[in-house]
Amino acid sequence: MSIETSIARLVEDATGQPYPYRRHELVEPDWTRFPGWRDVTAAEWESAQWQRSHCVKNVRQLREVLGDQVDDRFFADLERDQNERATMSMLVPPQMLNTMVPYVVPGAAGAWTDAFYADPIRVYMLPVLSDRRTDWASHPFAARDSLHEHEMWATEGLTHRYPTKVLAELLPTCPQYCGHCTRMDLVGTSTPTIEKLKFVAKPNDRLADMLDYLRRSPQVRDVVVSGGDVANMPWPRLEAFLTELLAIENIRDIRLATKALIGLPQHWLQGEVVDGVGRVAQLARSRGVSLAVHTHANHAQSVTPLVAKAAGGLLDAGVRDVRNQGVLLNGVNADPHALLDLCFRLLDEARIMPYYFYLCDMIPFAEHWRISVADAQRLQHHIMGYLPGFATPRIVCDVPFVGKRWVQQLADYDHERGISYWTKNYRTSIESGDADALSRTYAYYDPIHTLPEAGRAWWADEHGALPGRLDLNLDAAAAAEASRRTAALQAY
Ligand code: SF4
Repeated sequence: MSIETSIARLVEDATGQPYPYRRHELVEPDWTRFPGWRDVTAAEWESAQWQRSHCVKNVRQLREVLGDQVDDRFFADLERDQNERATMSMLVPPQMLNTMVPYVVPGAAGAWTDAFYADPIRVYMLPVLSDRRTDWASHPFAARDSLHEHEMWATEGLTHRYPTKVLAELLPTCPQYCGHCTRMDLVGTSTPTIEKLKFVAKPNDRLADMLDYLRRSPQVRDVVVSGGDVANMPWPRLEAFLTELLAIENIRDIRLATKALIGLPQHWLQGEVVDGVGRVAQLARSRGVSLAVHTHANHAQSVTPLVAKAAGGLLDAGVRDVRNQGVLLNGVNADPHALLDLCFRLLDEARIMPYYFYLCDMIPFAEHWRISVADAQRLQHHIMGYLPGFATPRIVCDVPFVGKRWVQQLADYDHERGISYWTKNYRTSIESGDADALSRTYAYYDPIHTLPEAGRAWWADEHGALPGRLDLNLDAAAAAEASRRTAALQAY
């Protein structure tokens, strides 16, 4: 459904309001509706260990869970995508799979397959070949490391892009792999399409280097502790890192990034983890540091009682806030109704604060998910005024070499060619000697299929045969070279 169609649907609602608010009681979908989980007990389901050891990692395992409810054509479609397009390998915890088609599907054989194809969680967690565009599957300026984070590494895995904030990628794995992952260059295991970049230094040395850098960088006050997903780091090691971080005088804000709160809430409900979070939160409080958790839910279906319980447990343990940063994705949430449903469910039922929605970054093979900046601006307009102001998420574009910008902030916009231009008010860590960094405009590109005919024709003429765009199996040196080449092309 297009954004215009979904908006028209809202206006027709009987309440007279474009969006009719109703509270929604959370329900854990019944996992025994899947043939492969018919005998799974509640105790098993709530065990993080059981969840991790029963993640779906390949088509065979998915078939064992779903049984013959879903037709062969879906599995063949998925297999082809894994072999020919996927930038992330398959890894879906049972908790996440159970939020797909969370209701009983009425109707004839085939209805289940259709429902599975259409399901918003399936669309981004289990992408299939027929989802992808065949005209512009990748944007000509798509890149493995589209945000150029590696170029801004102060130490291996520590991205210093903003003046006062850093991103610490502690590890390159997650309990779940999202098809649209912006760190597809590094995170997860290699796929036939993408040979992943590997960290070179030993894990402990990398973390020590990060801490050393922060000790000698008094201008940095805010650390996003991420990955991957911090839920994949054994708790004692994560606690040791956080304890050292909290000893650095200039660090005032720490945010733990974990989609596992949504995909594997059982992890955050384990006694050892809850107790550990409590100790770290208490230490943070005693030092006047704000400790928050940032998670990543894209659709209301993901917010279940277990997710609410895990988020509540973190807050009760002393974490200052749990916030959500979703990604706007066609077929998942790119309409105002879906966004408001998600935000209200997070806020009212799970005590999670809606915070940001990002445009999907310009990674390879993402064009079927991406929306234009103009559509993002429309979405921002249509979600204003329903949520409290403090819980109204900002829709942001992560502009290469700039950083997050609110979508209304652009400096100029060529609607025909889908090129938006942005400015910034700080230098990234690689621009300290760049006199023009604050006066230059930086480009971001809409998906070509969303452009008017003249714009599509221009891209076909100018960039249809741009070399190297789909040459994705690069080693680390070549990946860095590709990033430089992209920068040069974007400057053009
Ligand atoms: S959880 Fe985050 S880092 Fe991990 S695959 Fe998903 S988007 Fe990427």
